[in-house]
Parts: sequence; C-alpha cells; structure tokens
Amino acid sequence: MSTKDFIEKDYYKVLGVPKDATEAEIKKAYRKLARENHPDANKGNARAEERFKEISEANDVLGDPKKRKEYDEARTLFGNGGFRPGPAGGGGSFNFDLGDLFGGGGGGPQGGAGGFGGGLGDVFGGLFNRGGTGTAGSRVQPRRGQDIESEVTLSFTEAINGATVPLRMSSQAPCKACSGTGDKNGTPRVCPTCVGTGQVSRGGGGGFSLTDPCVDCKGRGLIAQDPCDVCKGSGRAKSSRTMQVRIPAGVSDGQRIRLRGKGTPGERGGPAGDLYVVVHVDAHPVFGRRGDNLTVTVPVTFSEAALGGEVKVPTLGGPPVTLKLPESTPNGRTMRARGKGAVRQDGTRGDLLVTVEVVVPKDVTGKARDALEAYRDATAGEDPRAELFQAAKGA
Ligand SMILES: [Zn+2]
Ligand SMILES: [Zn+2]
Repeated sequence: MSTKDFIEKDYYKVLGVPKDATEAEIKKAYRKLARENHPDANKGNARAEERFKEISEANDVLGDPKKRKEYDEARTLFGNGGFRPGPAGGGGSFNFDLGDLFGGGGGGPQGGAGGFGGGLGDVFGGLFNRGGTGTAGSRVQPRRGQDIESEVTLSFTEAINGATVPLRMSSQAPCKACSGTGDKNGTPRVCPTCVGTGQVSRGGGGGFSLTDPCVDCKGRGLIAQDPCDVCKGSGRAKSSRTMQVRIPAGVSDGQRIRLRGKGTPGERGGPAGDLYVVVHVDAHPVFGRRGDNLTVTVPVTFSEAALGGEVKVPTLGGPPVTLKLPESTPNGRTMRARGKGAVRQDGTRGDLLVTVEVVVPKDVTGKARDALEAYRDATAGEDPRAELFQAAKGA
C-alpha cells in the first residue's frame, strides 16, 4: 500500500463510516460488510469478490489506530487534489512512502520503486523549505542544487601554475540509519502544527503574510515518533566527500573562484549548484606577486651596478634568465624579464619584475681593500651629499 493509495482511496467511504467514526463503529461496519460480501456467500460473484477485497483493505488501515492516523495525515497533506501522483505508484511498503510519491510523480530521475532511499531528504529539504511557496499541494519542480563554499590553501607555485587539489567537503545529507526520516522505524508522523508544510504563516502588515519555518518540526514537516538514535530525530547527518578540484592557473591570495556545477547535485533533474572556493596562497621565500607579474629582488655588487654587467636571475619553475645591467644602475631599479610572470587567463604570462639591491661586502681585505682605497682616493673630489645640503637650505 503506497501513499498513492492513501490519496486515491477513501476507506471511510468504502466502509460507509464517517471520518470521526470510533473504533467500535469501524469494526461493526467492517463485520457487516465482510459478511455480506464474503466469497463463501457469493460464489462466482466477481463484483462481491472485488468489494470484499476493498473492504478488507480499508479495514486493514482504519482498523489499526496507528495506520489510521497515518492515513488521515497523508490525506490531510495530499488529499486535497492539488497533487496528482503519477502512474509509478506500485508496491511500496506500507510506510509513509513519500519517496514513491514524489519520485514517481513524473517518471523523473528519482522515479520508480518506492522506499525511502534518499527520497525523504530531498522532499523535505526541497519541497517544504522552498521560500514561502512550499504548500503541501504544490507541484514538484526540478530544483537546482545548493551552492557550496569552501576554501583551499595553495603553495605559491600551485597558484601560479594551477593545480588539482583534493577538497574535502562536508554537507548535510539524509541520515543513513533512518533514511532521513528522523524516526527509528522510518515512520515519522506529519507535524500537526504546520500540517507537514514545514512552514507557518503569520500575518504581516498590508495584507501580506510571512512564513516562518515551523518551530515544532524545525521546518521538516515531520516529527519522529521514536527518534532515531543516530541523528537524534533530525533526519540529517553530516556527510563528507572528497572531490578533486581543478584550480585554474594564476589565482591570487584571497580570490574567490567559482566552479560551475560542482556544488550540491540538483534534485529531480535540476542542475547542480556551484562550488565557490576561496583560495589562500602561501608566501614564497623568494618571489612575490603583483597582479600578473612576479617580483624578485636580486643582490648585485657595487661594481656590477656601477660598471654594468650580466646578472643571472632565478625564475619560478624555469631556468634562470640573464639580465643585462646597464652602466650606473642605481640601487633599487626595477627591470623587466618579459613573459616570466604569472599565467594570465588567456594563457599568456605576465613579467618578472627584477629589483636590484646593491650589497655592501661584509669584510673587505687584501687586493679588494687596496682597490677600494684607491677608488676612494680617486673620487675624493665627489660629494654625494652636496645636493642634499643645497636642497635642505631652500624652501
Ligand atoms: Zn511543523
Ligand atoms: Zn537518523
């Protein structure tokens, strides 16, 4: 017996009793009808046989207080004609077979065999929690999966070149132990406060009404009769999966990148959500980053700066480049090694900005000392501070 049966069959009518009939009244009506239509008393009467089956089925449900309650609740929820279950229906279990009901509705991707497997999580995560419109009778639409936000830390080089990194993501999934019902036996009851919608409306100003998540069922529409030990009745469990994510080349620290379709899978044929990854990039001991360009500071000697020369400069992940230092290169000058920077979106590369830093030798001895003393004597007439003092006087 599936929920479809619950909606389509009026067992009260079959037994000819009112909806508020007592247990005794139901029992009495059933006995009378069963006697009248019993196959033994109606040999060869196909109609009576069919009727007898109907009566027994109705009694199976209405004669059992627990099943009757579920039947009543299912009919309150779905029985007002707004929702037409599809043809899939079929031999689900007696349990409140929502997976069957919704999945089978349009022969959709989750259609077919009933049972709870994953169905309920979808239903109550989706149908009833949709902003404001999730009335019990609404048609089930494909639903886009949720966007997920995550973060990842890359080495400096990985950020420049792009990298495929494992990303561990945790999300809320239906509890496996109770198939997302929150109930130990998989038979939750419909929340009486919100009648299964998961939302309650409150009046707002100007004829608007606002909806809030139902407090009693925490927006799920269901209440566990016997709460599941694993999820404490919430029906939700943390699930984590590890996914290989391709981070494109050229990302920088703090950047938020969007990976289309890598978020939560869609429901009922809807597209997947997106995954947003905030990238953290570790510093590099040598190279820095300025947009598409890399930066590096290169020590040069005084004589290299003064006389000019060729200076080898390391690059990130490639062979060194040789820079021609012109004569009289001032300390702190920045030169450009084209195409040795970070990868741009279009695949080209930025430049490597090389800043020279004149270093003073730690100790000067021997021939070097003699040469420096000779240099000092030769340049004794130069005063590097003359301009400074001049400028200090003025203005
Ligand atoms: Zn509720
Ligand atoms: Zn559970």
